[in-house]
Amino acid sequence: MIKRTFHEITQMITVENDVTAFKDTAISGVSIDSRKITKGNLFVPFKGENSDGHRFVEDAIKKGAAAAFWQKDVPNPPLHLPILVVEDPLIALQELARKYRDELDVKVVGITGSNGKTTTKDITANLLSLKYKVQKTEGNFNNEIGLPLTILGLEEDTEMAVLEMGMSSRGEIDFLTRLARPEAAIITNIGESHLLDLGSREGIAEAKLEIVNGLQENGLLTYYGDEPLLTQQLERSTGKIVKKTFGRNPKNDLFPVEIEQNDTGSSFAINASKATFFLPVLGTHNVLNAMAAMTVANFFGIPFEEMNAGFAGLKLTNMRTELLEGKMGEKIINDAYNASPTSMHAAIELIAQLPGYKNKILVLGDMLELGPEEESFHLKMGESIDSREIDYVLTFGKLGKWIAEGAKVSLPADRILAFTEKQPLIEALQKLVNEETIVLVKASRGMKLEEVVSALQ
Ligand code: ATP
Ligand code: MG
Repeated sequence: MIKRTFHEITQMITVENDVTAFKDTAISGVSIDSRKITKGNLFVPFKGENSDGHRFVEDAIKKGAAAAFWQKDVPNPPLHLPILVVEDPLIALQELARKYRDELDVKVVGITGSNGKTTTKDITANLLSLKYKVQKTEGNFNNEIGLPLTILGLEEDTEMAVLEMGMSSRGEIDFLTRLARPEAAIITNIGESHLLDLGSREGIAEAKLEIVNGLQENGLLTYYGDEPLLTQQLERSTGKIVKKTFGRNPKNDLFPVEIEQNDTGSSFAINASKATFFLPVLGTHNVLNAMAAMTVANFFGIPFEEMNAGFAGLKLTNMRTELLEGKMGEKIINDAYNASPTSMHAAIELIAQLPGYKNKILVLGDMLELGPEEESFHLKMGESIDSREIDYVLTFGKLGKWIAEGAKVSLPADRILAFTEKQPLIEALQKLVNEETIVLVKASRGMKLEEVVSALQ
């Protein structure tokens, strides 16, 4: 993590007060939460509409913070304490991260896309760890606060940083990528998340493509080559960068030649190597995420043949395609973390492909923030469900009902149940499960379908 004296910090960012008295005071690390201060931290207070972090500055210092920012227009700065007065603490935090990144001898991998960023980040970090000292975004710290904090958490001897970059509107990825200046970038895919803010899938693709703006010369961009919105845009010149695609289509630079799923993960082979691989996470979509990670690791000198060692021991962040066991011996795939049409399709495909289950049940809830076409997205999702692969469909929520409506195309009506409350859904579900059952639970975060998962366990 960052270790700098006040004197050094004044060379990195604009500080408005005279800090000569504290010039040798040193900070180590940065925290925005006064309850989680560790000794030596720089505490960064934010002033929101309803709360004001400046109230916690003295407390943070009492708890061991070495210093704190103070927003210039907030009255009565406690200048007897080691305070750095700045115009705007958020901008100062970002500027400090930008300067620190420039001072470090680290190579950055930036990851964006509608689905699979966190997963791809975890896989990429695992692979790069075979050869380098790696740090990565913790959890989902992928925005204009999380990314600077992650950078400020990098150690001086870290060789590679794998950073997740999220967005909800145009210009955000541009900002993050120019700050992080990656040597390699990944666009995992284009889905429908944030359709409401960005207007169209084209708009979403353009926003993700902003990642190129901060990519270093001769850097690598690897992207999902099965997505025409990406391939079309990238046929045009993008400056001096290396472009590589991955996807299912054999036209891609990297593609799987064989995939086999079981309860513990996917075995697969690729076009670029004779080796076979085992990825201990479920779903073909994760094989695609792995291929993005493999492209990056290979770019940084790791041979494909060695990558199995990097897949072993992989653990994904919570609620992302987790396989759990229920009270009746049924298996549950908890994918309640989030949902959009692309990721819901991927999850349904996964459960459809898994061998060894006689009773396959989908519990699907609303996918939120899809804009004016939301009902039609849900209806189409339902229509895509195939009775040869799926035995029951249980839906939850007002939009979920449209999935149930669409499912009627293939499934008999008595195998489709629509609910607007969780308790009756849970009771109905409990009657359907047995040892031969696998249940997929998926919806947008706001629907809290993990409550259904807990009820089964
Ligand atoms: P967020 O925007 O919330 O940070 P994320 O992009 O980091 O999401 P993950 O957390 O890795 O994505 O995965 C979230 C869910 O997306 C997974 O549980 C899975 O259902 C789905 N998913 C992951 N990768 C893909 C992919 N390549 N294609 C489609 N769906 C995917
Ligand atoms: Mg994420």
